[in-house]
Amino acid sequence: MAGREFDEKYRYDGNDLGAACTEQKTVFKVWSPVAEQIELSLYRDGSSPAYFTKEMQQEEKGIWKLEFEESLHGVYYDYLVRIGGKDKRTADPYAVGCSCNGNRSMVVNLRLTDPPGFESDTAPVKDKEQIIYELHIKDFSYDKESGVPDAYRGKYKAFTVIGTNGNYPTCMEYLKNLGITHVHLLPFFDYASVDEAGEESQYNWGYDPLNFNVPEGSYATDVMDGTVRIRECKEMIQALHANGLRVIMDVVYNHTYKEDSWLQRMVPGYYYRYKEDGSLSDGSACGNDIAAGRAMVDNYIADSVMYWAKEYHLDGFRFDLMGLLTVELMNRIRKELDQEFGEGEKLLYGEPWRADDSPMETGTKAALKANAACLDEGIGFFSDDTRDVIKGHVFEEKEPGFVNGGTDLETKVLYAVTGWRDGGASVRPKSCRQIINYVSAHDNFTLWDKLVLTMRDGEADFSGRYEDVLAANKLAAFIYFTCQGNLFLQAGEEFARTKFGEDNSYCSVPEVNMLRWRQTVERKGLVDYYRGLISLRKKLPALCDKSSNAAKRMKEKEVLKEGVVTFRMDNRDDNGDGIWEELFVIYNAASDSCTVDLPEGRWEILADGREADCCRAMPSAGKGVSIDGKSGMMLGRKGA
Ligand code: CA
Repeated sequence: MAGREFDEKYRYDGNDLGAACTEQKTVFKVWSPVAEQIELSLYRDGSSPAYFTKEMQQEEKGIWKLEFEESLHGVYYDYLVRIGGKDKRTADPYAVGCSCNGNRSMVVNLRLTDPPGFESDTAPVKDKEQIIYELHIKDFSYDKESGVPDAYRGKYKAFTVIGTNGNYPTCMEYLKNLGITHVHLLPFFDYASVDEAGEESQYNWGYDPLNFNVPEGSYATDVMDGTVRIRECKEMIQALHANGLRVIMDVVYNHTYKEDSWLQRMVPGYYYRYKEDGSLSDGSACGNDIAAGRAMVDNYIADSVMYWAKEYHLDGFRFDLMGLLTVELMNRIRKELDQEFGEGEKLLYGEPWRADDSPMETGTKAALKANAACLDEGIGFFSDDTRDVIKGHVFEEKEPGFVNGGTDLETKVLYAVTGWRDGGASVRPKSCRQIINYVSAHDNFTLWDKLVLTMRDGEADFSGRYEDVLAANKLAAFIYFTCQGNLFLQAGEEFARTKFGEDNSYCSVPEVNMLRWRQTVERKGLVDYYRGLISLRKKLPALCDKSSNAAKRMKEKEVLKEGVVTFRMDNRDDNGDGIWEELFVIYNAASDSCTVDLPEGRWEILADGREADCCRAMPSAGKGVSIDGKSGMMLGRKGA
């Protein structure tokens, strides 16, 4: 069923698969070189019997087609596919709309799903820096304190509410004040694990794709009309844009919810990887691996990405388990996006790993960290090196990193500053543009929980107020905000988000996962600190520089003593100017304060453990500066 010969014979490069619908016409097209017959059925809704069925016409390259001289917008459909004399019913893998729970596809004239003004919707102008905020749609507004009307809580629509509960900024109002540049949304293509007609209290992160090109229904206010989820998803993106935020979609092309997917029913065996014994490979640890590297699999994935970018105006994509996809496919997607939208306009990054080995197609390379040198410079990957050196290993609960009691990490943490461009890790990136710096994401413990677990023995109260944990949190943030590369944070990291010690909350109740907006007030000091770091970061060419020469800005890195390191950075911009010509940075992970001698010149304090983005003259006496235990400090030297 698979193999080079099959691909050469049947590869179809048209991007008109699915049901294309305009006011005058509807064209159904699917790809199945192995089918003996395919019959189209049309339905008035998601559950009633078919009102029309007709055999499709076979064309070249395994294409089946049926054309209607009318708009079938709003009509539901599926296919009865005969392979080896056996009939199987399937939804359309290329569908752009679907019924409640996604088992029937829907014909959609996409122009009729645009909310008012969507035609002129554009992304906000690119900022100097990428500061990405990772958010789950339900987490955003499920909390009653969110101030979002009940009917919109947990929905796409929540993003259209100017979110304030009357007492303090929440939701969109809060986001736009934070200074982040991108909102990265956990999967919102149609996923299978939540009953869309069921209770609001259901919860899943959504890493279980059912219909790759349709938005998830449980985030829509009406799941019975398949156009609502499309319109409301667009409204969400439009609202984020209107508030100055770019939008990134978390995409999961490495596996499907189950092997018995629409792709499998259409062309059995083609879309998945199998081991030599014929069993499914499981590099995703989710039961199956999509066979990236085959012609029509790659076309499917690349076309899907382009579809979301064009139709939904998305500004970037985060690839789940990118290590299961191929270098060739990722580079192709980078190229297609650049050609269509301009170089680097869309962000691309992913997890450069996989859960287990997976048999790759001959002649392809896995998009793993080890192959970073083959990946385009415009494809970023999460730096587990940066994450682990700062706060400790993600799977070793009690193992600390630099900020929470780890030892012998001084040299290593200094390598993180240039995004490991100077070495220190198993892989040297082409430039820090390839690096996503972070210390927390949806997987594993929240930063706060990890710090509490490593800094408190025995019974940990995750809701407790611990000044030393708070200081370590600030220092962790200070460190990755002073590393070159792209910045990424899990929503709520900036207000000590806790999941009460749960490290895998993918299907936990929403109350464990949701953002608790009151915490933005209770932890106001921490929020202000992050806001300051974000604002300061954007002013510093030394840190925003993504060129392959950026690492050369770092000078005189020094380990002063246990837990204390310093370095200098050339902070001049392309014109050789800059408010501060040079930066001097100190990380003090020790518990005690210490005094550090400053290089020659007049220095101003730009950030310390209490305040970020300040501008304080140095106290006059002496050349030294005193820095508190568990804190960072940045100083700037103005030009002569
Ligand atoms: Ca769904």
